[in-house]
Amino acid sequence: MSMFRYAILTVAFCLGTVSGAGHGVDASLTPTFPDTASIAVPPPANAPEKNPDAFEPIQVRFRLADGVRVTGELTGWDDDGIDGSFARRAWTEIHYDDTWKLYRRLMDRSAPLAWVDLGRTLLIVALDQTDARALADRAFREAGKLAPNDPVVTTAIENARIEADDERRLRDRIRTAAEAQRLHTESPEARTWTPRPWPKLDTDEQQAAVQSMRADATDILERAGLTLEPVETKFFLFYSDMNRREAQKWARQLDEMYDRLAARFELPKTENIFWGKAVIFVFKSRDRFRLVEAEAFGQLAADWADGLCHPVGPKVFVNFYRQRPDEVFAAILVHETVHGFMHRYKTPYRLPTWANEGFADYLASVLFRNSPIDLERRRQGVRFVRRGGDVNAVLDWRYGDDSWPGPGRVGYNVGYLMVELMIRDRPRAFGAWVDAIKEGKDWEQALEEDFGVTRAQLVETFVRFYRVND
Ligand SMILES: [Zn+2]
Repeated sequence: MSMFRYAILTVAFCLGTVSGAGHGVDASLTPTFPDTASIAVPPPANAPEKNPDAFEPIQVRFRLADGVRVTGELTGWDDDGIDGSFARRAWTEIHYDDTWKLYRRLMDRSAPLAWVDLGRTLLIVALDQTDARALADRAFREAGKLAPNDPVVTTAIENARIEADDERRLRDRIRTAAEAQRLHTESPEARTWTPRPWPKLDTDEQQAAVQSMRADATDILERAGLTLEPVETKFFLFYSDMNRREAQKWARQLDEMYDRLAARFELPKTENIFWGKAVIFVFKSRDRFRLVEAEAFGQLAADWADGLCHPVGPKVFVNFYRQRPDEVFAAILVHETVHGFMHRYKTPYRLPTWANEGFADYLASVLFRNSPIDLERRRQGVRFVRRGGDVNAVLDWRYGDDSWPGPGRVGYNVGYLMVELMIRDRPRAFGAWVDAIKEGKDWEQALEEDFGVTRAQLVETFVRFYRVND
């Protein structure tokens, strides 16, 4: 599962491949496990890049719906929420009074359609905070005042009301589904898998598998009352209610991402790791994503989950929704697809939770330009270490027993930084470690035998490094 927040960052460093021989990493830039004195040296390999289109940050102060007060620097916004030093906040999380105030500060108040957008946002907010309805009506009246009797504006207002109604119905259906069936609440990644190698499929079997994945996808969509035609690429069946052009753009990016991923694992360029092809669902609305989770996968998506990968036997389904901005969307797309890829890499056996998530984040961070992951994870992970957080304990947190991802989802930050440090220091040994676990070796044993340090040394190096380095 993933949860990324907005920031712009260029990933500029180059690492060896994950397994086997890759080109090396400049040793002077890496921390070394565990026996050197030079631990305080390495600067972070990534440096934030200025985005010329970036929004000029402003200081804001607002209340959340539950009354918690937030102050910080706002760095971006869209129809769904705001981004800034306080991380991503959906408009629906914010107290409706402050949604009204903030949105008005950010919008173009001379544009009637901007008022309609505000009205629509407030109608969605009103699904949880009913008093927001009056403000929605006020926004629509403002739009009307600016453009009296303009049919474009009138239609836009009607559509906004219809959209909000649809949203409400979707939510009712999710609630009903959640009550009717006992939905899974733990991550699909929590299920137990064996270290038995996947059989290789011949061309005919592979083609039959693609047909089977198509049929499954149609079936899944039907259960959520949808019919969509896929964009089919070399490795993926991409189903989305975005417009066709946008869907094609992202589907193409997925194939490019797959190539980079496969290269890192030193797979032959043409090798398709998936059973048939991986199915990717991307919905415009978060509720649509949650509905498909509930009705097709029997999964109650956690409130903070923006996407999920569902391995079903040898099959891989990824389901999530279209977030803004693109960098956040791409990060989730890659993160979840990596889970699918790792499910099919050698055996379905999983890395320990911190590494399973950390590695997905790591790859999402390096495979996509401008990934926000590094900046976000690093800042919060480093803070955890410096406040004396128990890094060793995080390595024991697991899906399935409520320990993962920990308070403030800090497990993701520690997992990412740990994996990043391991790969930076010993890319080949990291690959060997992954392979050994995939073949069924206990991760701590593999750490000693294949990576070359004990768990205690790993933790100690990590903590010493991040106490003084960013
Ligand atoms: Zn994940």
